[in-house]
Amino acid sequence: MTHPLPDPSDKPLPLAHPAPVRIGHGYDLHRLEPRTPAGEAKPLIVGGVLLDSPVGLVAHSDGDVLYHATVDALMGALALPDIGQMFPDNAASNKGRNSEEFLTHAAAIVRRAGYTLANLDATVILERPRLSPVKDQVRANLARCLGVDISTVNVKGKSHEKVDAVGEGRAIEAYVVVLLERHMSGSQSSSAQPRK
Ligand SMILES: [Zn+2]
Repeated sequence: MTHPLPDPSDKPLPLAHPAPVRIGHGYDLHRLEPRTPAGEAKPLIVGGVLLDSPVGLVAHSDGDVLYHATVDALMGALALPDIGQMFPDNAASNKGRNSEEFLTHAAAIVRRAGYTLANLDATVILERPRLSPVKDQVRANLARCLGVDISTVNVKGKSHEKVDAVGEGRAIEAYVVVLLERHMSGSQSSSAQPRK
């Protein structure tokens, strides 16, 4: 069964099974290539932060793996279409797109479905540069886009111990887990179970 794409309006998007809490998982990977004038690699952006790096992202959009994995975690929690279905990478309108737009769109869908983000935990795997100097900036960006306090959002950076594509600096990965909580009041009146 395919899921219909959510329309871009503000109207409530009730779920068939609005459980009190829903968990979501997202994953993304993008290739990294040396940045040369003739090459296709774009600046290395993670969680909306530009990193100083001799390699850059190969992607249709800006290639922000953390934002993309977060969108998939949020949409996955709601059993709604993933980022590739919502924003196809063969659509000209998504070329070079700032992934912040994907994220704010996903956050709006979460609200319309009657849920709030309880917490988010992310792991970014990148051989270099290290994420630690910008981690709080990344957390602040995620929190701002998702409309939550920074304490709701956790980001961890890891290397891949120099092995495989990620460890050899040829790719970057992100894993994100989210927990959504149903609003106590709001837009689920037609389908919500009575609270006992
Ligand atoms: Zn992506």
